[in-house]
This record gives sequence, C-alpha cells and structure tokens, in this order.
Amino acid sequence: MKNIAILGATGSIGINTLDVLSRHPDKYNVFALSANNNWEKMQKLCVKYMPEFAVMANADAAESLRKVVPDEVTVLQGEGSLNDIASHQRTDFVMAAIVGGAGLSSTFAAASSGKRVMLANKESLVLGGNLLINAAKISGAELIPVDSEHSAIFQCLQGGKEGLNKIQLTASGGPFLKTPSAELYNVTPKQACNHPKWKMGRKISVDSATLMNKGLEVIEAHFLFQLLPSKIEVVIHPQSIVHSFVYFEDGSVLSQLGLPDMRSAISYALSFPSRQTSGVEDLDLTKQAPLEFLSPDMDRFKCLGLAYEALEKGGSAPGTLNAANEIAVEAFLNKKIGFLDIGTTIEKTLAITPTSSLDTLVSVVENDLLSRQIAQSVIEPSLL
Ligand code: NAD
Ligand code: MG
Repeated sequence: MKNIAILGATGSIGINTLDVLSRHPDKYNVFALSANNNWEKMQKLCVKYMPEFAVMANADAAESLRKVVPDEVTVLQGEGSLNDIASHQRTDFVMAAIVGGAGLSSTFAAASSGKRVMLANKESLVLGGNLLINAAKISGAELIPVDSEHSAIFQCLQGGKEGLNKIQLTASGGPFLKTPSAELYNVTPKQACNHPKWKMGRKISVDSATLMNKGLEVIEAHFLFQLLPSKIEVVIHPQSIVHSFVYFEDGSVLSQLGLPDMRSAISYALSFPSRQTSGVEDLDLTKQAPLEFLSPDMDRFKCLGLAYEALEKGGSAPGTLNAANEIAVEAFLNKKIGFLDIGTTIEKTLAITPTSSLDTLVSVVENDLLSRQIAQSVIEPSLL
C-alpha cells in the first residue's frame, strides 16, 4: 500500500489523480491533500477520501475547513505544512500538481526527501532546472513526468536513450490555431480558456492558447531528459492523439498514443514500471478524425520562440520567462492586458532582467521575485 500526498488536490490534475486512485483502493491510500483557498471543495474531498492531513495554503481557508471536516482529518496551513506533507516520513508518492511557481518549494521538498515525485507542476522544473534534478539524484527520489508529452517520451525511452536523434513534442495548437493575427488582439479570457481538446485549469489553458505551454514543456524536456535545445522540436497536432515522438538514428520513430485524458499519464506515474487500469477508454483510430501534423507558426505565437531563447540563454532566464508569463497571464485573465500583450510583457521582462547563474533554491526564489516585479512594472505603464 502506497501513501499518496496530492499537492493541488482541488485542481484538474488533482481530481483526475483521485479518480485513478479510487479505482485501486488495494494499492493506494490517500494520505494527504492540499489546496490553496477553496475549502468548500476540500471539505467534500476530505469527507470522501478521509486523508490524515489536509493542508490549505491560505490561513483563513484552513480555519474555515477545520470547523467542518471529520475529526480524523488534521488540518494544517501554509507553505511550511505543504513541505511537511511532501516530505513526511509516511508519504511514499507525491503528486506535484500545484499550478505555477507556488509549487516550487513543495516539489523541492518531495524531491529532496527521496519520494516518487509525479511531476505535473512543470513550472518548478522551469524555475529550478538542474537544482531539482540534482536534489532528486542525491536523495534517490524518482521524478516521473505527468505532463502527457513527457510521459509519452518517458515511456518511449524505457529501452534507453542510445541512438536518440531528437524528440518532438506534440502541441494541439490551442483554441487560436486558425485565428488570424489581427483577431488575436481582441480575444477574451473566456475564449482563451476554451481549449478544444483538454479540460484544464485556467492558467495552463491560457498557456496553451499562447503556445507558452509548449515553450515551458521544451524547457521541462531539456531538464528531464538532459537534451540540448536543438534536439527538442515542436509539432502541431490538433487531434491530440499522438502525445510525442522520439526519433532514433536508425530511422525508427517511437511514439505513445491515447485519447486526450490525463488519467493515462497519471496512472502510469503511479504504477510505473508496470501498468494498471485508469478509466481511460480504448483508442479506436478508425473512429478518429485523420491525424494532422503541422509546423508551429512562430510569428503568430511568439511565446514559443521566447522560451527557446530563454533556454539557450540559460541560468536564470527560464525562471524569468516563467515569472513574467505568470504575471502576464494573471493580468490577461483579469482583463488588464490583451492577449498579445502576454508575449510582449515576457519579451520586455527578459530583455530588462539581468541573467545570473542560479546555484541555490534561495537564488531561484530571489530571481523569481525580481522578475515578477519587473514584469509588473512592464505592465503598469499600459494601465495608465
Ligand atoms: P488548476 O488550476 O486546475 O489547479 C491548481 C491547484 O493548485 C489547485 O488545487 C489549487 O488550489 C492549487 N494552488 C493554486 N495556487 C496555489 C498556491 N499559491 N499555493 C498552494 N496551492 C495552490 O491547475 P491544473 O490544470 O490542475 O494544473 C496543475 C499543474 O499541472 C500545472 O503546473 C499545469 O501546468 C500542470 N499540467 C496540467 C495539465 C492538465 O491537464 N490540467 C496537464 C499537464 C500539466
Ligand atoms: Mg502537456
């Protein structure tokens, strides 16, 4: 029986994880759950799954939750408690599914304490890079990708990396794949969050619409699989059936296919190296629309190019890219800036923020804070 801690339990990945766990009560125990401030949703999860610990990042939310959960559930609050459940002696597997840089500290805590880290929170890898990889190496933690593309590549590489030429991450292209540039100025948060294939949280939905999600994934793949940026390509695949490709020097190409349902990747991260049922339906290619593959339009979607630039620059640049993106996406969702301003904000922030090497978690956090401040100041003048 494995004890599971889910960081970000109320989100899209968190709920899908609970769905997979509940199909295998003989193998997994829901040990700890966490959320930001939605204590009503957390209360329902506590009643249903009876975790030993429920952590709310927000202190008021923790106070509200404490009054309404069964006595068996201990309610904790704050980032320190998130780190505590991530590194708890009795925790075996940690689902890192907090959105954004807010997941950095707890993902590090899990990676530093020898857990199996099921990594959905790609931002922590973009921020922490090799520090996170090394923390896992030192502690003996397993880093298993949950992002569908990286799970696909991880699955295709089970035979080893020898003879690998390059990888290709597939991207759905998001809701604006065919929207002309001129119309992108006016698209709304609602349109941007209306993803054609995946049902996800709002931040990653906007990232998919700008293609920054794929940019973050290029950086994620660089660190996870230790590949040069030139070996990581992106191909648009609107049907989201092929979850990525691995090209080998003998001309062979391996890929993993499946319906666009995150439970496959979540289930594999749990059951690796074996497999188990996940609730995902069988794929029937005879019933699917023809599969298409197109080159990304780097002019219309400048965020993808910015991610490659930040990766080439190295050091603190990927962290700055991520911080600026989080600030810009938040401003877009709050209707303070337009859709195309997201890319411009990131571009300007990257140009202004000095690049440094990041050798400690403290320096990663400092760079994140500085970049957020600079991104805010880039946005402010446009608000005047
Ligand atoms: P979501 O917005 O649906 O859920 C986010 C979760 O994080 C919630 O439980 C929320 O309470 C928690 N959270 C938010 N801010 C927090 C804070 N400051 N402190 C502590 N907890 C906080 O997001 P999601 O779609 O589930 O995505 C989660 C992560 O997984 C992201 O990094 C995303 O890029 C990645 N991911 C998601 C999908 C998907 O299909 N949803 C696919 C691949 C990767
Ligand atoms: Mg993905």
